[in-house]
Amino acid sequence: MNKEYEVIVVGSGPGGASAARELVKAGKKVVMLEWGTDSDWVGSHFAVLPKMDLKNSLPLGHAMMIRGITTGGSSLIYCGTATRPAAFIKEQTGIDLAPYADEFEEELGIRPLPEKLVGDGARRMLEAAQALGMDWQLLPKFINPEKCVRDCGECMLGCKRGAKWTSREFIKQAQQMGMELLTRVKVEEVIQENGKAAGVKGMGPQGPFTLRAGRVVLAAGGLGTPVILKRSGVEKAGQGFFTDPLIFTYGMRPGQEKGSIYDVPMTAGTWQYWEKEGYVMTDLAEPWMLQLASLGMKGRLDQVANVAHILGIMTKVKDPISGTIDANGNLKKALEPEVKKRLESGDGHAREILLKAGATKSSLWTSPVKAAHPGGSAPIGKVVDKNLETQIKRCYVADASVIPDELGTPVVLLTLCLGKYAASRILANWN
Ligand SMILES: Cc1cc2nc3c(=O)[nH]c(=O)nc-3n(C[C@H](O)[C@H](O)[C@H](O)COP(=O)(O)OP(=O)(O)OC[C@H]3O[C@@H](n4cnc5c(N)ncnc54)[C@H](O)[C@@H]3O)c2cc1C
Repeated sequence: MNKEYEVIVVGSGPGGASAARELVKAGKKVVMLEWGTDSDWVGSHFAVLPKMDLKNSLPLGHAMMIRGITTGGSSLIYCGTATRPAAFIKEQTGIDLAPYADEFEEELGIRPLPEKLVGDGARRMLEAAQALGMDWQLLPKFINPEKCVRDCGECMLGCKRGAKWTSREFIKQAQQMGMELLTRVKVEEVIQENGKAAGVKGMGPQGPFTLRAGRVVLAAGGLGTPVILKRSGVEKAGQGFFTDPLIFTYGMRPGQEKGSIYDVPMTAGTWQYWEKEGYVMTDLAEPWMLQLASLGMKGRLDQVANVAHILGIMTKVKDPISGTIDANGNLKKALEPEVKKRLESGDGHAREILLKAGATKSSLWTSPVKAAHPGGSAPIGKVVDKNLETQIKRCYVADASVIPDELGTPVVLLTLCLGKYAASRILANWN
């Protein structure tokens, strides 16, 4: 690693990929360091499990945390739903991300699925929710309808058809413009000289390494970035975080029709309860292996034979910034009382929809609490300034860590915007 770089980007999820692509476009010499592997094997549980953070996937007291550790980060396994940056971000920080969101929507063709790709289960729940008077609509997706096929439902196992956008696409573009990607490299600390970032150190496939560059962009995600910051002396990082806890409510219609696992996940849903009640709801079922684990944990073995036929609804809730992440990546967080209340309320609505869609009462069950959107662990105003720069000069954060308040909505479009914004601030202050 003796090459000369101007910027080190740590992490290859949506935040890192978006920032890196902009910096390379501007002619900077960029290297991206990614902890996971770059394996292209996707499309099954066996392909995806080795790309996940299994340590934190165990029930932690508050939720079972799911995140991808691979090139592309969690975008490899996300559901491909896009949500524009919430208004509170501009209100609280003065940073207007809307123009970036417009650009990404245009560039990536973000829009709801065409009718031919709306699966039977998703359609049934949409109609049932609307019949109950809910504002349940098709959701904007990071999915190319030309490449997507009906009745596949494998988005969360990595899309083998290339229909779902992942940050690997931006990484490939950045590599074509000269960026270098080094994988199986875990960054531990930012090297500092005279209060300024001067590189990073950590562990690579051949052992400990040091890499020097005048600027460092941390994009290791809501759980990864605070660990690196803490090890680099930024004590306020990881003093609180959110995970957007979620549950699945399931129900079975009599008959052997195809269930939610065949649908594009999160095809449709409602944001009508987000502002006041703190949650969003969409059609969604866990991939079958996770669903079986949930059934076992809930003692609903009577439903095992129904996994392929069951209808599922996810409730995802706002989660106050609380708990701690320590310098070894250990998470401590309780399920706050308001979070429990929000989950219960969503579960109640979900049961109404499932019954309306034809599910039998005896088949209804609810999964254990999970979580998939870590953030808020290095918030704007506390750990980073309006340039997304930390107390270590020329060390920036470009991922979901900087979100300043509880969120409870999909976060990839917002994170892409944050990456692009971080790059614009780095370039504007380059000297
Ligand atoms: C199952 C699932 C479904 C989801 N569905 C949606 C959805 O439909 N829409 C949506 O908007 N969001 C969704 N999300 C959330 C979304 O995928 C993540 O919030 C998003 O990927 C966060 O981007 P990020 O760049 O902040 O971090 P990440 O995607 O987590 O990327 C961080 C990267 O940094 C790497 N890293 C971590 N530590 C280190 C280190 N020390 N050194 C080097 N590299 C490191 C990781 O390996 C990872 O590749 C989903 C998430 C999951 C798990």
